[in-house]
Amino acid sequence: MKKQCAPVIVTPDPRLRQVSTKVTEIDDEVKDIIEQMIRASLDWEKEHEFELSAALAAPQLGFNRRIIVVREDMNEKSNNNFIALINPVVIKTEGRILRDYEGCLSVPTIYGKVPRPAKARIKAQLTDGTEVKLKTEGFLTRTILHEIDHLDGILFIDHIRDKKDAFYKLDNKGDLVPVDYEKEIKNNKNLWPDD
Ligand SMILES: [Zn+2]
Repeated sequence: MKKQCAPVIVTPDPRLRQVSTKVTEIDDEVKDIIEQMIRASLDWEKEHEFELSAALAAPQLGFNRRIIVVREDMNEKSNNNFIALINPVVIKTEGRILRDYEGCLSVPTIYGKVPRPAKARIKAQLTDGTEVKLKTEGFLTRTILHEIDHLDGILFIDHIRDKKDAFYKLDNKGDLVPVDYEKEIKNNKNLWPDD
């Protein structure tokens, strides 16, 4: 029997803009949310030929809890393993600020070139309650910072809101092409509902 899985919510759903609460006990409810997050990521991917679900945050399924899941191997679509990080915290960020493409399951079709630090130190709990400290580099840093932002109600588009040349979308061949900022981004009520 297939278990019910909450759908991925998209902008302008206000739940994406809430600050999520800390997980105080890793109980069955938390484990069930994690399971749903992994399933939702993989289900989404099946419908998006050119894209990979690198990670997901609990508020994207409407659960405002501080939980993220990150793909074990982001270069290998056939590896379906995810690692759950509970109450992840950025201890510090280091290195140069890099600009690279980001997309989000909750911001359909739009991509952005977002500035993020190259490296970070993160602490979090695993599902068995163990506390871990991670040193991240490269795309993993970007991914984890993007997901932790979700726990604070922040989306990647917020970082580039006024950057006219930072927004992209996928064309039908799977290539990223610039979007018309004035027409599609600037006053888009789905992206900025509170204006
Ligand atoms: Zn996202």
